[in-house]
Amino acid sequence: MSRVDKSMSLAGGPPVAMKTGQKIGTLLGLFGLGILTLATFNVSLPNQGLWLSLALLSIGVGILVYSKSLYKDTLPGIKNHGVWLKSISNRGFWAWVAGISLTGFYIVLYFFAELLGQGSGGAENTGLIGLFDPLSYALKGQPASQWFVYGTLYTLAILAFGIKFIWKYRHNTYEKIRTGSVMFFQTVFAFLIPEIMARLNGDLPYYDLKNVWPLNYYLFDQWNVDALLINGSFGLTLLIWGIASILVITPILTYRYGKRWYCSWVCGCGGLAETAGDSFRQLSDKSRMAWRVERWVVHSVLVFAVVTTTGVIHSYLGDGSKYWFSQSTFLISVGVVLTLIFGLIWKYKRHELKKDARYGAIGYLVIILALIGLHFSSTTNTLLLFQTHEVRSTYGFLIGSVFSGVIGTGFYPIFGNRVWCRMGCPMAAILGLQQRLFSKFRITTNGGQCISCGNCSTYCEMGIDVRAYAQKGANIVRASCVGCGICSAVCPRGVLKLENADTKGRINSKDVLLGNDVDLMALVNQK
Ligand code: SF4
Ligand code: SF4
Repeated sequence: MSRVDKSMSLAGGPPVAMKTGQKIGTLLGLFGLGILTLATFNVSLPNQGLWLSLALLSIGVGILVYSKSLYKDTLPGIKNHGVWLKSISNRGFWAWVAGISLTGFYIVLYFFAELLGQGSGGAENTGLIGLFDPLSYALKGQPASQWFVYGTLYTLAILAFGIKFIWKYRHNTYEKIRTGSVMFFQTVFAFLIPEIMARLNGDLPYYDLKNVWPLNYYLFDQWNVDALLINGSFGLTLLIWGIASILVITPILTYRYGKRWYCSWVCGCGGLAETAGDSFRQLSDKSRMAWRVERWVVHSVLVFAVVTTTGVIHSYLGDGSKYWFSQSTFLISVGVVLTLIFGLIWKYKRHELKKDARYGAIGYLVIILALIGLHFSSTTNTLLLFQTHEVRSTYGFLIGSVFSGVIGTGFYPIFGNRVWCRMGCPMAAILGLQQRLFSKFRITTNGGQCISCGNCSTYCEMGIDVRAYAQKGANIVRASCVGCGICSAVCPRGVLKLENADTKGRINSKDVLLGNDVDLMALVNQK
């Protein structure tokens, strides 16, 4: 007899007790985590390679067994039954336990790695980091570091939860392909290639080929540029690749496909959010206040990134004898490029910007130009009253570590899975501006079919009120939309469609298309 649940309820039933497979999966995962915990507390584990393999396999297989058991007797289609009734996915007790534990782990990993056994001054690794030594030697021929441990667990999470995600959304080809894509880019580009490059050439700095500035905030730091340049043509090629990614590849792909090509198909932060963070996407704040805060914070981070990077490059360029650019030429170029971009946006797109966005844009331009002007007239390596490198390392600490790592990931169960992408990622800010102003991407809505169930808004991880657009029949053209496609996947009426098409008429927010209010054929013919 079929055990498939044929209920047609849109809300799903109440949460049911865990099945045997889910319990076995949970126990396997806890067993793997238990091994890592024992290692953290320096319990001696002979044959570290074996114990590490056992730990990673138990965690990975545990997630797969749990997921298979969860979805195997279900019809293809979204399964979000009971998310608001479970403690872990509704900011209950277990959500806080998970959030605080993850955040605590991140804080120790980022700032107190010696507590995890990181050896310093030539001493051997011990504890958790020592447990990862065999894998690190096998891949790059060097002992593990806190970042190697982080990268391995991060990749494992994306792979195992990625398979869970694919099972859950198995009726949707777009979701399956893009999840395969983030799993590939994380494993190959962020994990394997940099480690193997380090094995082949120990002088090369860690380089994740898909990490584009300003997400890769140290790309233009002097130590990184010098380390690339001393590696001859290969290092120079990597540097040129980094610059081409910013100036050529990113604008072209964003114009054609919107920011989704990066945020939902390539980026590791997005990859973790979509896979490991999928159970928390409904927690994103949908309020208008959150939208306001989001715009100001994320664009302020972008301004901060531009100013600090400009300052850092300026501080080591000198008079042009060492690098191609002198300090003066560089600053003038930055000023001219920023003014040009701003001028073009103002001339051709200002009618598409809301009032506060216009004032914000003017404010940002004034700040950037003022800072550059101040810096230009300064004789020391200062940015306002601060040492440039201090400002840069504060930026790296606050944005690169505290926000993206600790709060952005550790607090998935409290703030939702994309809080970093919404509020803190300067790359998302740049891509978002372009997506809003110069891109073919939009989500079209067939408003006449919408039954206002609100699934789309509930599961939009970026806090966009998708239903409001669907009810009007308006295209969704939002800077923050990462094109994850979940709104479309969870819509029971097939109202939403992610498209790349002609830019003309892309923003149609004034169209109101509400069922019987409009003669649909007359409207279509008129268009
Ligand atoms: S609007 Fe849809 S595609 Fe865009 S971020 Fe929200 S759920 Fe994803
Ligand atoms: S667009 Fe689809 S998911 Fe969103 S409210 Fe309408 S019917 Fe529901």
